[in-house]
Amino acid sequence: MRKKIAAGNWKMHTTIEEGVSLATALCQADTASSDRVILCVPFTHLAAVAKALDRQAHIALAAQNLSSQAQGAYTGEVSASMLVSAKVEFVLVGHSERRTLFNEDSAMLRGKIAQALSVGIKVIYCLGEPLEIRQAEAHEAFVLDQLQNDLFHLSEADLANVVIAYEPIWAIGTGLTASPQQAQDMHAFIRASLANQYNQALANDMSILYGGSVKAGNAREIFSQPDVDGGLVGGAALVAEDFAAICASF
Ligand code: PEP
Repeated sequence: MRKKIAAGNWKMHTTIEEGVSLATALCQADTASSDRVILCVPFTHLAAVAKALDRQAHIALAAQNLSSQAQGAYTGEVSASMLVSAKVEFVLVGHSERRTLFNEDSAMLRGKIAQALSVGIKVIYCLGEPLEIRQAEAHEAFVLDQLQNDLFHLSEADLANVVIAYEPIWAIGTGLTASPQQAQDMHAFIRASLANQYNQALANDMSILYGGSVKAGNAREIFSQPDVDGGLVGGAALVAEDFAAICASF
């Protein structure tokens, strides 16, 4: 059975103290209608937030990035095994900000996914189309291409440790949200693509999150779509009451 997940991406926001306050407030909030809450925090915050989340099995710690290399002379990089030692359970890979601002291509994403899965860290794999592709009605072909290039080389066993986040780039941080029907249509397309490439059981078990200006006011309607299993949330994840309300929107 696939899980209902609310993931918050703090991006490059908050000091360590602010992050600990946010995590502590979420521990005290009633977020139990989601199966899993995931906090994607800056590297500098991992140890302190892990401590704040102590014994909160329902809330998982995630990193926002990792190296595509296992170890070595890569100044400034953070490896998968370092994340394990920081008690990280999930990592974001393929976020559009990393694809566009840091030129991360499919070869790099495959390397990052391999590193994470090799040490038992689960991957939140992000994909989604830019505005011009949506306007040209080429969004399904674009997303299928991303799946084929970044993900479809994985075994069924590896895919059991992946969550997919569909994030149309035109809706990230813009205040524009895909309509519940647009989200549902793309999620159904992604699930059908998984069934074609693998099998229906695997497709049925895959949690597919929607991301793009999810807020307390629209989460319930988006999450109620049959193929939407939760959300990856940026801006609204920085305000404890707002994110708690999103986590309680299932
Ligand atoms: C994101 O960062 O993945 C995101 C969806 O941001 P926002 O919710 O702010 O659009």
